[in-house]
Amino acid sequence: MIYMDNAATTKIHPEVVNAMLPYLGAKFANPSGIYTFAKGVRKDVERARYIIASTIGAMPEEIYFTSGGTEADNWALKAAAREHDGGNVISTQVEHKAILESLNDLENNGIRTTKMPVDKYGMVELDRLQKLLRSDTFLISVMAANNEIGTIMPFAQIGRIARSRKILFHTDAVQAYTNIPINVNSMNIDMLSVSAHKIRGPKGVGFLYIRKGCVRTPFINGGSQEMGMRAGTENVAGIIGLAKAAEISYNNMKARTNNEIRKRDYMIDKILTNIDGVTLNGHRSKRLPNNANFTIKGVNGASMVLMLDQQGICASAGSACTSASAKPSHVLKAIGMSDDDARSTLRLTINEEITYQDIDYVVRCIKSNVERARKEM
Ligand code: PLP
Repeated sequence: MIYMDNAATTKIHPEVVNAMLPYLGAKFANPSGIYTFAKGVRKDVERARYIIASTIGAMPEEIYFTSGGTEADNWALKAAAREHDGGNVISTQVEHKAILESLNDLENNGIRTTKMPVDKYGMVELDRLQKLLRSDTFLISVMAANNEIGTIMPFAQIGRIARSRKILFHTDAVQAYTNIPINVNSMNIDMLSVSAHKIRGPKGVGFLYIRKGCVRTPFINGGSQEMGMRAGTENVAGIIGLAKAAEISYNNMKARTNNEIRKRDYMIDKILTNIDGVTLNGHRSKRLPNNANFTIKGVNGASMVLMLDQQGICASAGSACTSASAKPSHVLKAIGMSDDDARSTLRLTINEEITYQDIDYVVRCIKSNVERARKEM
């Protein structure tokens, strides 16, 4: 099997599994306990918080563990909104559904939301953002990088604009974290969402960074876990796995992403030169190291994914969440694509284990599938 759907999820790292195993067995204590056994587990959870904080330049007490990226996004938007009576939140049309649906929820609760259009690469235009800011805008939420087309947003510049206007800045960094360098201080980020399963960690765990004092409203009520902000007994094994995955992917970021960029660009060039009627979506260089997204004229993306499946290749048409539905992706629509072209897209997201031979095989398969599909048209 050749796995090229790493934006949907990644293969858990064997060292992550090893790090987690003791917490699924002998180290089962509830970290809230006051006896030595529990205090040992508490120490390990706090060490995980410390490791994660150090990867983004944060303080450990600014890291709150969640059940993943979706919860972190919901928390950031809804908790900030609860601290305001009305007002405006600015985001973009190309966010993940976790943000877009949370924005709809805010709308239903008296908050005015602005979903900014983006340029043809899926990038936020800073001039447009400046013009859309209102006197009652209290939050800007813009993803660090897009999960479908891979475009990296100018999030450091957005942070600067937000800070100069005393507006909170949240970024959904689920796809960007440890794939591009992030520092919450130099980039003026007030809240940041991360998910473990996108960085070779386990599913169902992530974190929200909240700059100290920015948002104080608890997201889940109950016990006093997560500094009273997110109640519920901690997912200890998940947290340990998240920290291990973060540590590995942070430490090898430069070498790994340089390697991925070379392979990604080899694949993009090979597809564009060998197959007619193909265009690359997203920005040519300001894109995630592992992302390639193509429109293949006249070839249905879902059919292509099924043909590739027969050839032992896992790929995606648009984003994983919407690939089963016939509705064209909102991201591709937002960059100005017609419904037909949007339905003719293929996303290939590689990892460091993909070889040049794998890429050559995938390109050969795509080429023959395109020829077959166009013959049948
Ligand atoms: N935000 C982005 C940009 C994503 O790509 C995803 C997952 O696809 C999420 C949020 C949701 O993360 P999770 O799967 O951990 O809920």
